[in-house]
Amino acid sequence: MIHRAAILAVGSELLTPSRIDTNSLAITEQLDRLGIAVACKAVVGDDRDELAAAVRTALGRVDLLVCCGGLGPTDDDLTREVVASVMGKPLSEDARIVSRIEARFAARGIAMPAINRRQAMVPQGASVLDNANGTAPGLWIEDGAHCVLLLPGPPRELKPMLASCVESFLAPRASGVSLQRRVVRITNRTESQTDETLQPLYARWARQAVPVAATILASLGQIELHVSARAASRTDAQRAVDEAAREIGEVLGDDVFSLDGRLLEEVVGDLLVTGGFRIAVAESCTGGLLTSRLTDIAGSSRYVECGVVAYANAAKVSLLGVSESLIAVEGAVSEPVAVAMAEGVRKGAGVEVGIGVTGIAGPGGGSATKPVGTVAVAVAIPGETGSRTFRFVGDREQVKYQASQAALDMTRRMLLARPRS
Ligand code: ATP
Ligand code: MG
Repeated sequence: MIHRAAILAVGSELLTPSRIDTNSLAITEQLDRLGIAVACKAVVGDDRDELAAAVRTALGRVDLLVCCGGLGPTDDDLTREVVASVMGKPLSEDARIVSRIEARFAARGIAMPAINRRQAMVPQGASVLDNANGTAPGLWIEDGAHCVLLLPGPPRELKPMLASCVESFLAPRASGVSLQRRVVRITNRTESQTDETLQPLYARWARQAVPVAATILASLGQIELHVSARAASRTDAQRAVDEAAREIGEVLGDDVFSLDGRLLEEVVGDLLVTGGFRIAVAESCTGGLLTSRLTDIAGSSRYVECGVVAYANAAKVSLLGVSESLIAVEGAVSEPVAVAMAEGVRKGAGVEVGIGVTGIAGPGGGSATKPVGTVAVAVAIPGETGSRTFRFVGDREQVKYQASQAALDMTRRMLLARPRS
């Protein structure tokens, strides 16, 4: 029976500042579902001694070790050899794998390079996992005390292999305890406020028949609450987290924008679809970020009409119809100008919803009355235009992101509060 796992991401590139290990997240997600606790994880370079030490340590502590990466054909791909040696399993060539790799190369009209034979080496007694998207097969190795799973590094090769391995090897050996998680996303509150408000819920959840644990995470422009529950049955665990999410929604009201992990731009998109509206965006300081976020969502062509980046004052006048004198009197960063931008782009595009964003992202350009981080946002929906001035703290990139977040959140709140006929 498998209770505890360790994950080892192998690859020197993962120790540089330019690459991050994401495979362990995909692996954790699968193990969670099976109720296998991830006790520790580590990143190791392509180094024989480091890798051997990490494998030895892990095998002393957990009953499942999942390694990803280092199954390639080159000299620096050591995972297979090192794991086999630590486990005391001799390697031998598997003719079936050789012919499969030969066939992959032949399909592209190339002869298999000799070094690829390495990928056909299999530790004694191991099961071979087919790789539908690459040459390196995965391996499942079991001895009396441990199970070890070796997966290729490229995520598109790892994921399908992991899914089939869950079915054939992991699920039958898991305890059957299910862990379910849910992410609730919140705006307009600080981390400490949210935590304080939710304390009574946490206390009750801890005493329930199926206890629910909560972790609060603050990021730019939003708070995330991760709730999780373990139970013998998947349905019980799922019911406990669903109920917890519902209670959070009840306590925090409209400050919760998503109970199901949806992003803010996705929630806004769904509200636009529900209202039968299309949207046009006029951006100054966000430089297109807001439109970019809206269009990150698949299917956004159903409701995104256009985005205009009107950075210079002259562009606000010529492209959006903002009056020159309004800019002169109010200043480019002001609610009246944001309103004129939102209404101008909406009219120009001939749609129902318009957003205008104008602000000072910094580090220069601030003044005593309008310091860096001042951003005016306006949202025009049918029958109503709202505007607000924000003061964000942070560097240029952070101010831009918070401005886009605030604009999306204002749009969400106005669409929610919209009187319906
Ligand atoms: P294989 O096991 O298939 O031989 P490898 O890991 O040895 O692969 P690499 O060249 O090191 O081969 O990695 C292939 C690609 O997979 C890299 O571009 C890297 O971005 C990605 N990759 C490897 N490990 C991870 C990881 N832990 N998380 C995310 N991406 C990864
Ligand atoms: Mg590698």
